[in-house]
Amino acid sequence: MIPFNRPPTTGEELRYIEEALGQGKLSGDGPFHERCHQWFEDQLGCSRAFLTPSCTHALELAALLIDVKPGDEIIMPSYTFVSTANAFVLRGARIVFVDIRPDTMNIDETLIEQAITEKTRAIVPVHYAGVGCDMDAIMELANRYELYVIEDAAQGMMARYRDRPLGTMGHLGAFSFHETKNYTSGGEGGLLIINDESFVKRAEIIREKGTNRSQFFRGMVDKYSWVGLGSSYLPSELQAAYLWGQLTRAEQIRENRLAIWNGYHKALRPLISTGVVDGPELPKATAHNAHMYFMKVRDLEQRSALIEHFKQSGVMAVFHYVPLHSTPFGLTVGDFCGEDRYTSRESERLLRLPIWYGMSSEAQEHVIQSLLAFFD
Ligand SMILES: *Cc1c(COP(=O)(O)O)cnc(C)c1O
Repeated sequence: MIPFNRPPTTGEELRYIEEALGQGKLSGDGPFHERCHQWFEDQLGCSRAFLTPSCTHALELAALLIDVKPGDEIIMPSYTFVSTANAFVLRGARIVFVDIRPDTMNIDETLIEQAITEKTRAIVPVHYAGVGCDMDAIMELANRYELYVIEDAAQGMMARYRDRPLGTMGHLGAFSFHETKNYTSGGEGGLLIINDESFVKRAEIIREKGTNRSQFFRGMVDKYSWVGLGSSYLPSELQAAYLWGQLTRAEQIRENRLAIWNGYHKALRPLISTGVVDGPELPKATAHNAHMYFMKVRDLEQRSALIEHFKQSGVMAVFHYVPLHSTPFGLTVGDFCGEDRYTSRESERLLRLPIWYGMSSEAQEHVIQSLLAFFD
C-alpha cells in the first residue's frame, strides 16, 4: 500500500533527542527551543518566534493576543481546517466566511471588503497548499479598516509571497509541525511568529500560564507571579530536538518535495492540457513549498470513483475540508457572506496525491500509472 503521507525524518533527529535527554532539562524553553526560535527569527525575520504544541494552539494564542471579544467578527475562508475557526469561536467570536478563488483555493481577496462590518476585528488568510494568498490586497484592506491579520500558514513553512516568507506579512503568523506537514516536531507541534513587536510582552505571559516567568528568567523581576490571562503553550525539549533535526535540513526537504511535485505536474500535463483534470495553479507572486499536489476532477462522483480505483491498486489518495459553513457546528457559529460560488463546488472535486519527503520514484510512478489507467 502506498500511504498518503509519511512523517518526515532526516536521520538527525535521534542524535538531538539523545542530546536533549542528557542536558538535564526537558521542559519548554530549553537549549533546543532556543536554537529553533533563533533559526526561525533569522529565517523569517520576525520579531519573535515561539514553538507551540500545535498550530491549533498557535492560533488560540493569536486570538488571545488580539483580545477577541464575544460578538467580534473574524473573516476567513470556509475551505479550511476547523482550528482556523475554533481558535476564535473559543473567544466568543462569530465567523464570517468568504468564498475562495478556484485557482489557488485561497480566500478571494476581492470579496473581503464586502464582508467587513463595524464588528470585524481580523482577517485570517489561509495559505492553502503553501501557495500564498494575495497578501498585498489583504494588508491594504486591513490597514484601511484597522483590522488585524493573522496568517494561517500551517502549510506554508519555507514558501514565499513576492520576496517575503509566508506568515511574516500579517501581525501574527501560525505554522504547523504536525506529521502531515513538511516539517514536524515529532508528530505534533506548531509555531507562532510575532511580526508586530507590540505583542511580544503579552505573548510571553500568555504562553507561560499568565505569569511573568520569562522576565524572571531574564533577571528582570525577582519573583514571578500571576499577571494576566494565560495557558500552557510550550512543547517539550524532545519535540524541539526532533524539529531541530529537520531545520538543519530544511532546504533539502523543500527541494526533495518540489522534485516530487514537479514529477506529478509533468506526468499530469497531458490530462491538464486536454481539460480532463484541472491542475494546481501558481500565481506569479508565489513561490510554494510543495506541501501538496492536488488536482481537480469533474465532480464528486468521479472523485469517489477515482479514490476507489486508487484503493484497488494500493494507493491512498485523500481529500479534506468539508467547507466549515456547511458543517453542523459551523452552521451555528458562522455565516457565509455572499454567494458560495466556488467553495462547495471546488472542494468536492479536489483530490490530493501521496507526497512525502523521500518518496521513491517507484512509488510515485505507481501512483501516476494508476491515475493514467483510470482516465484511459
Ligand atoms: C494542519 C492545519 C492546522 C492545524 O495544525 P495542528 O498543528 O494539527 O494543530 C490549521 N490550519 C491549517 C490550514 C492546517 O492545514
